Amino acid sequence: MRPSDLLTMTPSGLYCPQADAHIDPVRPVRRALITHGHSDHARAGHGAVLATDETLGIMAVRYGPDFAGATQAVRYGERVDLNGVTVSYHPAGHVLGSAQIALQCGGVRIVASGDYKRARDPTCAPFELVPCDVFITEATFGLPVFRHPDTRHEVDRLLASVRVFPDRAHIVGAYALGKAQRLMALIREAGYEEPIYVHGAMERLTQFYQDQGVQLGEIRKVQAAERPKLGGAIVICPPSATQDLWARKFPDPVTAFASGWMRVRARARQKGVELPLVVSDHSDWDDLCATILQTGAGEVWVTHGQEDALVHWCVTRGIRAQPLHMLGYGDEGEVEPETNVLAGEAAPAEAAT
Ligand SMILES: [Zn+2]
Repeated sequence: MRPSDLLTMTPSGLYCPQADAHIDPVRPVRRALITHGHSDHARAGHGAVLATDETLGIMAVRYGPDFAGATQAVRYGERVDLNGVTVSYHPAGHVLGSAQIALQCGGVRIVASGDYKRARDPTCAPFELVPCDVFITEATFGLPVFRHPDTRHEVDRLLASVRVFPDRAHIVGAYALGKAQRLMALIREAGYEEPIYVHGAMERLTQFYQDQGVQLGEIRKVQAAERPKLGGAIVICPPSATQDLWARKFPDPVTAFASGWMRVRARARQKGVELPLVVSDHSDWDDLCATILQTGAGEVWVTHGQEDALVHWCVTRGIRAQPLHMLGYGDEGEVEPETNVLAGEAAPAEAAT
């Protein structure tokens, strides 16, 4: 069997004809295999959804209990047979419950990694290397300029700022699923014991993480009336809220933003971010390249992000590679629609404090 017989591109996304299943489809389909709960990968309205228990839980939090006709929870490492295709889920290290999906049939194994990272994350299972013939990789940060620093260093910068400005509220923009909770866990690891405040928009997902046993310490939802009293506090909110009137009600706020894009100085400036924190839930360039080599794949398909550079890198190493030019991904996790980093604007972000 050729890999393209096992898995093919359709307008709805990657499709396995023999199993009659799509991976992370962008339109409603009969049977969907979902890698993780970010809204560009996990959509409501499918006939049946196979995903990890955590991803199913996240989808229920976001879309309500009836988000699919039927659901089936798959444990990491468990093998599910779909009409002769063996399907298994393996940790992707991206957010709670995130999985790479392996399809095996006729001596061919394809691994669709969804989004993944190799950096440590106390809130989810670490990435598992799955040897395969074809590795399907994202390329969100698929340019050599993207090298993510140690997240501990970034969190230390945040806490240092809180010490230097004890009267100013620190408003940290972070994506509501995964990034926010990872940041909370890392702040706790760094020894910060005060309550961490959250915007109402991330309260339920944060509660879900805690219900799953992820230790985040005392988390409090911000009440509108108490905003002026939160000098010195750390407040985590969706990135868009940092620009809102909502954020201006806090005492002399320091605006921070936790994203891999904060590596790009122009991006931080453009967003009015005083304290850019380079914290990413995606692999940086070095980890993308290392992972491709470690899988032993002879062929690589690049799904979304900066596809061309990674394809070129593979080809120069004798690995067959092609961009899939998939549309509809990258609207939640961390992907920015513009690609002006390619126009030479990319430069390491300066420390803002
Ligand atoms: Zn994602």
